[in-house]
Amino acid sequence: MDLQTLALHAGYEKDSQGTMAVPIYQTTAYEFRDVEHAANLFALKELGNIYTRLNNPTTDVFEKRFAALEGGETALATSSGMSAIFYAFANAAEAGDNIVCARQLYGGSLTQTAHTLKRFGIEARFFDVHNPRELEQLIDEKTKVIFFESLTNPSIDVADIEALTKIANAHNILTVVDNTVATPVLCRPFEWGADITVHSASKYTTGQGLAIGGILVERKGLDEKLKNNPRYAHFNEPDASYHGLVYTETGLPAFTLRARLSLLRDLGAVVSPFNSWLFIQGMEHLALRMKEHSRNALILAEFLESHPKVKKVNYPGLVTNANFKNAQKYFTDGLCSGLLSFEVASLEEAEKIVNATELYSLVVNIGDSKSIITHPASTTHQQLSHEELIACGVPEGLIRISCGLESAKDLIDDIAQALDE
Ligand SMILES: *Cc1c(COP(=O)(O)O)cnc(C)c1O
Repeated sequence: MDLQTLALHAGYEKDSQGTMAVPIYQTTAYEFRDVEHAANLFALKELGNIYTRLNNPTTDVFEKRFAALEGGETALATSSGMSAIFYAFANAAEAGDNIVCARQLYGGSLTQTAHTLKRFGIEARFFDVHNPRELEQLIDEKTKVIFFESLTNPSIDVADIEALTKIANAHNILTVVDNTVATPVLCRPFEWGADITVHSASKYTTGQGLAIGGILVERKGLDEKLKNNPRYAHFNEPDASYHGLVYTETGLPAFTLRARLSLLRDLGAVVSPFNSWLFIQGMEHLALRMKEHSRNALILAEFLESHPKVKKVNYPGLVTNANFKNAQKYFTDGLCSGLLSFEVASLEEAEKIVNATELYSLVVNIGDSKSIITHPASTTHQQLSHEELIACGVPEGLIRISCGLESAKDLIDDIAQALDE
């Protein structure tokens, strides 16, 4: 079935009431039929609901539907994108191990990998997403994850997914791809060799800036890679915290099963059923919205490129952009999502433009139906020196836009008046 059809139907079987909309199962726990039923559920002899920290029928629909859109086997929803990313790492690596990450990462992922994981004894090593050779040189026998974003936020680069997963697979290492900005509508990392995808559902999935959530998706057939793989002994040996369960011997997708039974159980970053329901609503029109976000962003990027006050425009949909070739290869119909940035002469000039826009909201978020404008040098990247700003690709005159669903004409008119003021 096509993605748009799956987005409306996958993972939901109507209840006895024939309820068209997926019900919100706002509950903490579930009654067992008897003691034997309860024991069977805990022993995984029977699958079913136990407690909403572990599973919930509304969240179950969100997980199944998202996995279907991504072309994956199964999924695990979490309370935020950051917790989905943390669970992906914590499920693969432990103290003494390392993960190799692209340098071009979302700010929260940079601090999580470089600082927080370090305090847990997991070392993060960084490579330039455009330099697969650098990645290969950083790998050793303790490397448990290769991590990068398909479409990077905020630098707006497009990863050569196939080239990077080829290196990971040659070493039998798991590739985790953050597919938040591209979404399953525009990019399908599993078709290019990735093993796990992670998403912030807070962005395009909700689509209207309504809720924080995250999701981790496991590709089909991943068990084959984990089984007897010496890098991942913990998937092949008895888990003392789950009465000796060997995850790869259960017949269930092992990566997600362990993330749920061990990490979600013990760390508890669970999504609320109401937020899962909001994400289900968002998914129904995700494909329609991504086309429109992408169309608006391209029109706006072309306008900005022609404006005399604009030094440079970063949007992978522009033929002049260094990422154009990768975007054409990896993104459905070459559509590049709603994120673009452009550079003007100075910090003062950028601040003036951001303040002069009326339609764009000054907000640190992306993927909302309402357009958003940010000036990284005075907000998210404020603590960096002039030299550091240049090094991480955020010059002082850089303005970032998350293109919403307003009419392209109104978006251009407003940015034009701000530029000409
Ligand atoms: C926002 C974002 C995250 C973090 O997601 P939260 O839901 O805010 O925790 C991770 N990766 C990318 C690419 C993001 O844009």
